[in-house]
Amino acid sequence: MDMFALDDEVTRLEFALSPLRGLPRLAVLEPLAWHLRQRDTGRALALADEAEALLATCQREPDRQRIAARLRLVRSEAEWMWAKLDAAQEMADPALRTFSALDDAAGIADAHWLQALIAADRGDHARRDAELEAAASQARRAGDDMRARIAEAASAIWTAYRDQVGAQQRWGRRFEAELADLHPAVAPWVHDFLGLVAAQSSDFGTAAAHFLRTRDTALATGQVRRAINAGTNVGSCFTSLNDHEAALEWMQRSLELARPCGWPLSIGVCLIQTTEALRSLGRLDAAQELMVEALDTLAPLASSRTYAIALQYSADLALDRGHHTLALDSFRQLEQRAESLNQVDFQIESRRGQAHALSHLGRPQESLQAAHAALALAQRANDAAPQVRTLRVLADIHARHSLPTPDGVAANGAPLHYLQQALAVAATIDDYTVPGELFDALAREHASLGDYAEAYDSALRANAVRESTRSLAATNRAIAMQVQQATERARADAEHHRQLASSEAKRAETLQQTGSTLERLSAIGQEITTHLDAKAVFKALDRHVHGLLDVSSLIIYLLDADAQGLNAVFGVENGKALPAFHVALSSPTSNSARCVRERREILVDLTPDDDNPNRIPGTLPILSALFTPLLIGDRILGAMSIQSPQPQVYGEREQLILRTLCAFGAIALDNAATYRQLTATLKTLHETRARVEEMSLTDSLTGLRNRRFLLQHVETDVAMNLRRYDEWQKHPEQPLPEDADLIFILIDLDDFKSVNDTYGHAAGDQVLEQMRERLETVFRESDYLIRWGGEEFLVVARAANRADAEAVSERVRAVVADRVFELADGLRLAKTCSIGFACLPFLPAHPRLLTWAEVVELADKALYLAKDGGRNAWAGFFGTELTPPDVLFPWLLQNAEPATRDGMLRLVSSMDLTVKSAAGSKV
Ligand code: GH3
Ligand code: MG
Ligand code: MG
Repeated sequence: MDMFALDDEVTRLEFALSPLRGLPRLAVLEPLAWHLRQRDTGRALALADEAEALLATCQREPDRQRIAARLRLVRSEAEWMWAKLDAAQEMADPALRTFSALDDAAGIADAHWLQALIAADRGDHARRDAELEAAASQARRAGDDMRARIAEAASAIWTAYRDQVGAQQRWGRRFEAELADLHPAVAPWVHDFLGLVAAQSSDFGTAAAHFLRTRDTALATGQVRRAINAGTNVGSCFTSLNDHEAALEWMQRSLELARPCGWPLSIGVCLIQTTEALRSLGRLDAAQELMVEALDTLAPLASSRTYAIALQYSADLALDRGHHTLALDSFRQLEQRAESLNQVDFQIESRRGQAHALSHLGRPQESLQAAHAALALAQRANDAAPQVRTLRVLADIHARHSLPTPDGVAANGAPLHYLQQALAVAATIDDYTVPGELFDALAREHASLGDYAEAYDSALRANAVRESTRSLAATNRAIAMQVQQATERARADAEHHRQLASSEAKRAETLQQTGSTLERLSAIGQEITTHLDAKAVFKALDRHVHGLLDVSSLIIYLLDADAQGLNAVFGVENGKALPAFHVALSSPTSNSARCVRERREILVDLTPDDDNPNRIPGTLPILSALFTPLLIGDRILGAMSIQSPQPQVYGEREQLILRTLCAFGAIALDNAATYRQLTATLKTLHETRARVEEMSLTDSLTGLRNRRFLLQHVETDVAMNLRRYDEWQKHPEQPLPEDADLIFILIDLDDFKSVNDTYGHAAGDQVLEQMRERLETVFRESDYLIRWGGEEFLVVARAANRADAEAVSERVRAVVADRVFELADGLRLAKTCSIGFACLPFLPAHPRLLTWAEVVELADKALYLAKDGGRNAWAGFFGTELTPPDVLFPWLLQNAEPATRDGMLRLVSSMDLTVKSAAGSKV
């Protein structure tokens, strides 16, 4: 017996069972109960009851014992899922003994597997690992690849919690390679492992994609508990990316799957992950309320990893609510749990949390120690997200207490230092949205250090992040509400569904008469559900409908986003596309609307004399039509309709076939929508990140580039520039490159303070803003225009020729001086500026003599000379043939006057200048 089976195998068993009576049922009851154990536990147990009653009349040993042991495993697994671990154990033990006595290796493997699951929920990890090992070795003895690989992947997952790097090395590459050709029953475990290690290195986009595959394949193979868990993991990835609304939607989806099963661990996982999303959204009361329910639900599983997660989240919640003593206590408990479970993530988070609480409780030394321990662990685990969290705590500790500043950090600069580190680590996480609070904290620190321009910049970025996540939130919330609404409606119709199910058996018999159709349907199902694109799903459905049924036209309707109408998104009549059209869900005459409203099949049989109000103009007259809803679980996606000009062609068999195709179609369309949602979210996050990145390189007042931009780009330009000169030096016979210079031009507005003093700061700001447009008229788009400081600008003219430096400087001088600045209120202000420049390389024959920063200092020196000479002027320094190739820059700067006199420097200027002493050379 396979460990897990695909849905269509289960359908086949159901069909096989229905015509059987008496003892022959036993042969089908056993595998059916086994494969329904998670899909529909109640029914699995009912079938087990029936099978056990029949067993009493069965004399054939050893079949009787083997079947009895298998049924025990079904019951044991049910108890395990209901968190009755002792009861589960009591039934698994005798099953193991029986299988061992029969030397049934696959059965022994299954019993060990179940023991491993029980041990895991008890937090008994030594036993869990030993049982998994036993399961794998028995599976190999049975020659059962599926069982062996599942047990191995499960071991890999548990190892990763203890040692991510080791697990990744041992299994990561191999599992990746196996993905292409993976049995769907093994897939959930392999994808879960790959998702886990991706999440552990904060690669949440990749992780979410793996968890989605985990969920899909687990659902298709009846591994419902794994599927629920994977759904919450998808949500948890969204939480980590700070997309809380998408996270909530996923938690809600998982909860819908978990609630009807009544499994405490599954429900508990959904609840605690939901509290975390709520907490991140700042909805602390709602989170607290749910946390109480979660802890209550998980109480029977207090030793499990899941309970430890609950402990961590409730401790973080206590922190956010300002209950620091409580938080400290919970994080201490978590630390103990982390040690006994030997799981690195908890070891990190428990210390990070204690540090945070201790800092607030006025115990800075202990706090600091805990924070550094957390940081070291997170760095060793190579996990960026907890590093970001811990660095923020370190910043908070230093901001809150007066502590010695760490080595290499400016006085009072520790909080800023750690926040900037947090930002840098956050930048290594793909698709991560830096939380607004981090920028807020940066703004506060810049402000407290008196750097208001940077503070303002950070505050702006905080707002930008909030704005973009909020608009994202709005869309996602709408989706979540839609899902909710569909579910509510589904509940009202649940009774109707039950009635529908009772006639299932009769229909099944009809279909069973055509066994080949069934096989064909199963193959079709496999094909359709592999498509991840809605159009491909439509086409596949169209192809198969025509292969199986008498159909002239096929129409597929999907529910609108607001669930108020149906869109005919696909329609084909005899190979010709039908135009798209829309039907109001409330339409009293439309069969498709009624089919969706009432969630049931509608069969229409007309005679040639009947008047058909639904006939689409220009289409064939229809005598038979069948409408079937596209349902996935409780959710309705739309409907599918087949039609024919022949009378009464759709009987029981056709209805069943269409229903089966609709079931496959709905799953495929839902998959496609899920992948679309993930791709869209990732795209939005990419765009947000790009926007924030762009903002961080732009000065918010003038829209010019800022210092950070120059630091990011200048080295590349310098390298290029040096390469050109190196080339030239290799071939000195060639002329000097004409466009290989960088000219650094510093521009400072004259007497700017008086603008503020006389007309106010706003007027000053307007002048600065207008400087951008003036500079843009002088320079090329490829030049760097940078706001260097308050009223000071640095332009880097790229691919330039040093011979043009003077002319360009004169143009800058003129463009400022020749035209008044027109401010609000009709104010007209004449302003001038002073300019200093120098070129890189400073000495063409020795291109590495000065660095770009030293060239800027020389330009600054020239600017000072222009100011000193009376302002509204420019000046620049060039190297000469007499400049010693080994001259030391500080000497040159200090001795600019004698150096100029002696010809080591050439000073050019728009006026008559003499170089004065170096004292006070800073402008
Ligand atoms: P000088 O000709 O010597 O350059 O005189 P100055 O007044 O321009 O130079 P100083 O360095 O004494 O003053 C610069 C002033 O620029 C001080 C500050 O009030 C003003 N400033 C700096 N940044 C901004 C800003 O963002 N907006 C406004 N409105 N004023 C600014
Ligand atoms: Mg100035
Ligand atoms: Mg200045």
